[in-house]
Amino acid sequence: TENIFKNVISHAKEYGFVYPSSEIYDGLQAVYDFGPYGVELKNNLKNLWWQSMTRLNDNIVGIDAAIFMHPLTWKASGHIDSFNDPMIDNKDSKKRYRADVLVEEHAAKLENVGKAAEGKALVEKLARLLESEDLTGVRQLIIDENITCPLSGTSNWTEVRQFNLMFSTQVGSVAEDASTIYLRPETAQGIFVNFLNVQKTARMKIPFGIAQIGKAFRNEIVARQFIFRMREFEQMEMQYFIRPGEEMNWYQHWKEARMKWHLALGIPQSKLRYHDHEKLAHYANAALDIEFEFPFGFKEIEGIHSRTDFDLKNHQELSKKKQQYFDPEINQNYIPYVLETSVGADRTFLMHLCNAYTEEVVGEGENRKERVYLKFHPAIAPVKAAIFPITKKDGLPEKAQEIVKMLKFDFNTVYEERDSIGKRYTRQDLIGTPFCIAVDHQTLEDNTVTIRHRDTTEQERVHINELKGKIGEAVSF
Ligand code: ATP
Repeated sequence: TENIFKNVISHAKEYGFVYPSSEIYDGLQAVYDFGPYGVELKNNLKNLWWQSMTRLNDNIVGIDAAIFMHPLTWKASGHIDSFNDPMIDNKDSKKRYRADVLVEEHAAKLENVGKAAEGKALVEKLARLLESEDLTGVRQLIIDENITCPLSGTSNWTEVRQFNLMFSTQVGSVAEDASTIYLRPETAQGIFVNFLNVQKTARMKIPFGIAQIGKAFRNEIVARQFIFRMREFEQMEMQYFIRPGEEMNWYQHWKEARMKWHLALGIPQSKLRYHDHEKLAHYANAALDIEFEFPFGFKEIEGIHSRTDFDLKNHQELSKKKQQYFDPEINQNYIPYVLETSVGADRTFLMHLCNAYTEEVVGEGENRKERVYLKFHPAIAPVKAAIFPITKKDGLPEKAQEIVKMLKFDFNTVYEERDSIGKRYTRQDLIGTPFCIAVDHQTLEDNTVTIRHRDTTEQERVHINELKGKIGEAVSF
């Protein structure tokens, strides 16, 4: 499976989905650029999320807040004081690791060799040490367990230090006036500080939600596994403002709604699971992750958090502005509780890429060959239909262009007349195009075309007037 992941990564690069950032300078660690098909796939995912939040729910509206926020925001949210990862350096390799990740990976190894109980005990011990901020204890644990550096193979470790994950920069040109501000490490706070603006100007009544898609930045120590953990990434977050005491009902509601969303986009149930948090973040009274089985194991793609009134209360305290809502139904003023769903656009992207990537052996004997294709749900496929004239003459290109014109206002289409038809099909398989439409001489006579289906490679003959309906039905979600 490690090999499969390598193939997914090189496929993503070779076929225009994801490139290392500034690659001509050998790249920048944990930063990536999205190519022509990647940006389509990501936009499709973001649009579908946006639509299912804001259009399908009368009481959810969107915003687009700035990346830069007043520095006090991060004091109130707790990020200045506790958005830290414990890190440790190996003195021989000079490599830096997250101390908690080293222990967790060691525990996973124990589990793999039938020592699950030992592994579990280890993870629990780690949680206790981190809880009590006993960093010396964490180092001792690593040494006692004889956890070695994957690179140098030694256990020559430095002390463990807390490392804040926020990127900072300066605003203002004159040194004396300049003040430190942060690149937001989550989009959520842009929603919290606008809670009353939105409530008043969009005349919202509790319960209601605010949705946002935007960039977030974290100076991740362990930046590995391709776009799974990036330093610059995109979040799709929705904060749902509710009456205190009703959080568990809404927790249940959103937990199920979000799972359904991933299933509806074609991720099989067997590859998704919930993971309840044993250790709760400073802001939450209940939290779980939705996890997907990546080639490197089950990992978080989305968090569902019951954040109570933690954020609004702290903003009220620091800003000295009331963050209350008057609830006409019960005639009371209160600071609302918040239920949050937070999913990474890039991680969702990676999930779909891993899920879609298919290597298949087709044919027998001399005709035996390997076929690689991306079996994306048509709703997220970067290109919905490719239109091919089978030859470059006899007016077939013109006819094919007519079909392109007919479809391109509704669907992302491509036109291709180079190479053999077989090669053109293969090329579309590799980027996950669900439909290839071939225009031949018969088309000139009766306006029918051949549709070739990506997953089955089966072909059918249809009238061109049916194309919009057929593709439209397949890409609906
Ligand atoms: P992790 O434990 O993997 O670091 P987290 O629990 O810190 O994630 P949250 O703060 O809950 O993550 O963020 C919500 C979502 O944002 C995650 O489920 C993930 O999809 C996405 N996300 C968080 N950090 C990153 C990152 N460095 N790169 C890409 N996506 C990320």
